[in-house]
Amino acid sequence: FKQKTAYEIMPSLVGSEMCIRDSMKYCPECGATTSIKIPSGDNRERVVCSECELIHYQNPKIVVGCVPVIGDEILLCKRAIEPRYGFWTVPAGFMELGETLIQGASRETYEEACAKVNIGHLFAIVDVISAGQVHAFYTADLIGDFAPGQESLDVKLFNKNDMPWDQMAFESGVFALRKLLDDDGKNNGIHYHKIDRRKQPSS
Ligand code: ZN
Repeated sequence: FKQKTAYEIMPSLVGSEMCIRDSMKYCPECGATTSIKIPSGDNRERVVCSECELIHYQNPKIVVGCVPVIGDEILLCKRAIEPRYGFWTVPAGFMELGETLIQGASRETYEEACAKVNIGHLFAIVDVISAGQVHAFYTADLIGDFAPGQESLDVKLFNKNDMPWDQMAFESGVFALRKLLDDDGKNNGIHYHKIDRRKQPSS
C-alpha cells in the first residue's frame, strides 16, 4: 500500500507547491515559523504562520520588457547577473509598484541599456507557469545612444538576420524576438506562449 501524495490527489497543486516550498520561512507579522497547509475554506496549499495563522498568499509576478529596434537592428543586453550570466536578452525585468506596463518597459530599458525608447504596442505575452511569472513584451523604437547599465556586461545592436540565437538567456525573450521578426513591423495583435517546466508527478 502506498499512501497517496498531494500530487496524486490534486495534480494542479504541483506548480504552486513548487513555488511556495522554499519561501517565507518566518512570519513577517510575528516572526514565528510558517508551515504549508490548506487553510479551511481554501482549496490549495498556502504558507501559514504557525502562531498567528496569518496566510501569506503568493501570486505570479509580472515581468515586462521591450524589443528596441532601429532600422534593421535590434538592441540586446548581455546579462551581468544570474540567472543566465553572460547570455543575451531583450531589456526586461520585474514590474515595480506604482508604474504601468509601458513605464516598466521603458525603465528596464534605461536601467539595463541606458537607452531611451518610444514604446509601441504590446505584442507578446508568455505565461512562465513554472516560475510563477507572466512576461509581457512591447515593440519599441530606440532613440539615441546606449551603454551597458549596471545589470549588463555589454549592450549591442544586432542585425535582424544575425541574432545570437544560441546565446539567448530566456525562452520568453526568444519567443518575443521571433514573433517581432515575423510581424516585420506590422501589428498582428498579441502572440501567446506558455512555458511549463514543472516536474510531473512520479507514479
Ligand atoms: Zn505570525
